[in-house]
Amino acid sequence: PPRGETLLYLDGVNKTFDGFKAINDLSLVVARGEMRAIIGPNGAGKTTMMDIITGKTRPDSGDVYFNGTTDLTQHDEADIASMGIGRKFQKPTVFESHTIEDNLRLAMTGSRSIFTALLHRKGAQERAKIDEILATTRLGPKRHTLAADLSHGQKQWLEIGMLLAQDPELLLVDEPVAGMTDAETEETALLLREIAETRSVVVVEHDMHFVRALGVKVTCLHEGHVLAEGPLDQVSADPRVVEVYLGR
Ligand code: ADP
Repeated sequence: PPRGETLLYLDGVNKTFDGFKAINDLSLVVARGEMRAIIGPNGAGKTTMMDIITGKTRPDSGDVYFNGTTDLTQHDEADIASMGIGRKFQKPTVFESHTIEDNLRLAMTGSRSIFTALLHRKGAQERAKIDEILATTRLGPKRHTLAADLSHGQKQWLEIGMLLAQDPELLLVDEPVAGMTDAETEETALLLREIAETRSVVVVEHDMHFVRALGVKVTCLHEGHVLAEGPLDQVSADPRVVEVYLGR
């Protein structure tokens, strides 16, 4: 994809819960083909921001532009998903009693029924896409394994694969390496960097070793607002960032 062009633009977004300002005049620009890491202490507004982008939460004011002129705040969750925004929550939700391959097939057809999904089994195009996703998510050797038999890290990868099956232009990924081994964490950084060669990715993450391994621009949120933005070394050395992480 052409880099530099804006894909996602949050413009002065606000959200108050019971008088508490969770998102406070938040503006953020993510370019097409960019991967961005979002950091910030607990309660900074990271989850609420993701909820607003995906239409789960409607902001009180402000706009969220996707692909130029589409204002996401005027659309519901299902619409936004169909526009090409996929989200992975922290806890994996895979179909435990189905194989990896069938999980991907279910995700690809957008179907909750294995019967519908199996109708698509014969398509050569679908097969090629599944092979590609299996390679990206390091699950090729596990293709006929039941999801229940995967490690926690592999389940996270499968869920990323299930997102890819829907071919999103923008992936929103919430704390992908929570609970992973060091080796899985390292592999996840590589895997996401590969995905970001063809798609935009926004990753919310606490694990600074992982954020370092991603090697991308970082946005630090605090009290629902952008506190600092730039390369990790610059952001983590910012006295205001040090203050909110240590001064509490
Ligand atoms: P983070 O993901 O950075 O930890 P959140 O977006 O989850 O932050 O939360 C930001 C603030 O908004 C927190 O103080 C949280 O308690 C509050 N908040 C989030 N969602 C709700 C809600 N549905 N109702 C009330 N308060 C909420």
